[in-house]
Amino acid sequence: MRKAVFPGSFDPITLGHVDIINRALPLFDEIIIAIGMNSAKKYMFDLEKRIYFIKDTFKNEPKITVTSYSGLTINFCKKNNIDFILRGLRNPADFEFEKAIAHTNRKLSKIETIFLLTSANTSYISSSIVRDILRHNGDVSILVPSSVVE
Ligand code: ADP
Repeated sequence: MRKAVFPGSFDPITLGHVDIINRALPLFDEIIIAIGMNSAKKYMFDLEKRIYFIKDTFKNEPKITVTSYSGLTINFCKKNNIDFILRGLRNPADFEFEKAIAHTNRKLSKIETIFLLTSANTSYISSSIVRDILRHNGDVSILVPSSVVE
């Protein structure tokens, strides 16, 4: 059984994340979307809300489960028998950052990171821009799934 984790903050989930998840579905038997909890980070949406947004978006997709974790992603993988980490790449900055993490994770474990390039029409979307727009009462409906808009 091919299991992958898609780790992230998802503060909030965007159509960029949704694109990566939908395109990864045919590649895996199960995708665990796991919200990493970092006590040093300030989030706009609390954990329950972020989990709800994702669960509602994928409520008709039996291959997807949503959870949270703290600590190293590779430890979460080992505990849950997950062999693959899924990440999206938007631009060269993402690549440089992700490359170092993926190399390190593979030195520390046998877990492979699988990268998908973002689709051209969602590659500009980021959770931080969505948060900025929300702070100023702007319209984010073309950037996020409907559960977030509501
Ligand atoms: P993190 O804090 O770990 O970067 P994010 O929620 O921002 O968490 O991102 C989780 C994953 O989703 C990362 O692999 C990131 O590259 C990817 N991602 C973020 N935005 C997009 C997008 N617009 N298109 C595709 N992938 C994206």
